[in-house]
Parts: sequence; C-alpha cells; structure tokens
Amino acid sequence: MKFSDLGLSPELLRAVADKGYDTPTPIQQQAIPAVLGGRDVLAGAQTGTGKTAGFVLPLLQRTVAADGRTPRVLVLTPTRELAAQVAESARVYGRYTNLRTTVIFGGVSEKPQIGALRAGCDILIATPGRLLDLVDQGALDLSRIKHFVLDEADRMLDMGFIPDIERIFNLTPPKRQTLFFSATMPPEITRLTTQFLKDPTRIEVARPATTAATISQYMARKIGRAHV
Ligand code: AMP
Repeated sequence: MKFSDLGLSPELLRAVADKGYDTPTPIQQQAIPAVLGGRDVLAGAQTGTGKTAGFVLPLLQRTVAADGRTPRVLVLTPTRELAAQVAESARVYGRYTNLRTTVIFGGVSEKPQIGALRAGCDILIATPGRLLDLVDQGALDLSRIKHFVLDEADRMLDMGFIPDIERIFNLTPPKRQTLFFSATMPPEITRLTTQFLKDPTRIEVARPATTAATISQYMARKIGRAHV
C-alpha cells in the first residue's frame, strides 16, 4: 500500500513525499481512512508507530481554512515536548495548505500564545493546564472544535490530567469527531472512551522496540528483505 492509495489530497501527498515517505505504517493504513470517513478512533499505539501522521494528515484534509479562524481541531498532549513535536508535524504536513497551526503549553510566557490565538488558527495543539488557563482568561474559544484528539491518554492519566481533560471535553461541542491514542488501556481510560467516543473504529498495532528499529523493520518487511 502507498500513501496515494489512502484518499489524501495532492497537497498532503506532496508534503509526505518531501519527507521521503512512500509506505504508510500499519497505524497510518488503518487510521487515515477511518478519520477521513469521519469515524471516532480508539487506537492502541505508542510513539514510534507513526501515529502522529496517522491523525495529523487526515485532520488537515478534513479542515478548511475559515474566516475568523477559531480553532476547529484540538490535539491535547501530556507534555510540552510532545505538543511541540505534534505542532511541527502539522506545520510540515500542512505546508502546501493554507491552514494555520498554533501550539500552547505551560512553563513559558502566555503573551505570545495569546497573541497567536488572537491572530487566529485552525489547528490547536495544547497541554491541558495552559489550555484551561487561557480559556478561563477568555483568550480561547473551544465552541467551534470539530475534531478532538487525545494523544498519549495513559500518560495523561499518570500525570493527573483526567479531571482537566473531562472539563475540556465538556467545553467542546458534543457533535465532534474524537480520537484517542494510548499505549495501554487502564480502566480509567476505558471509562473515558465509553463516555466520549461514539462507536469508535478500534486499531491495535504492535508495540515498537525503538522508533528507528520499528521503522526500519517495517520498511525491511515491505521491501522483502531481512531486518536491516
Ligand atoms: P510517531 O510515532 O508519530 O512519533 O512517529 C515516529 C517516527 O516515524 C517519526 O520520526 C516520523 O517522522 C517517522 N514516520 C512516520 N511515518 C512514517 C512513514 N510512513 N515511513 C517512515 N517513517 C515514518
């Protein structure tokens, strides 16, 4: 299977080709068509599987630049490093679209983040604490969110973010597409999935040893050679 078999637009395929990727990873093969089809997704997948492109690419495709630019896509991550990484992916994969991505996280000044939100964005990547601070200050409106992604849900749980996440969910419109990515499914995450996901497509992919090993093993299998 190739990226061009997944129903992605020419602008996105061009950005993927720039990265040098030809073959979608297993999670991308399953998640991209499901997200393009508007389904909720519950994916057991960790970092190193290619999960980021698995949700970023189809969500870029499903989002149209709009006047006013109140965010329509919200991705929540447990750490600022992951938020920055997901935002970088959204910018790289979205480089041939006119969609705007903004990232907000704690530990740095709020001012530039408030400025970026005022200027308008389509895709918002955030950590929960700073997101709620900005909502409480009236700097951020979540009423137009159409697609909500919870990335590394089990780490959110470990870090005590579940009450924040429930509050954030309830600030978004009930008619939204929701995607959950979690390496493990502890009972508290299962409870959230039953509360917030509607008839999700379930995706399970193998746990990778390390990022580099996973991608190279996967590529080796695809091109029919022994492990390189
Ligand atoms: P992630 O699991 O999203 O953190 O991605 C892990 C790494 O795999 C990142 O460095 C990506 O740039 C890379 N990657 C993602 N998709 C592919 C692909 N289809 N082929 C090769 N590498 C990829």
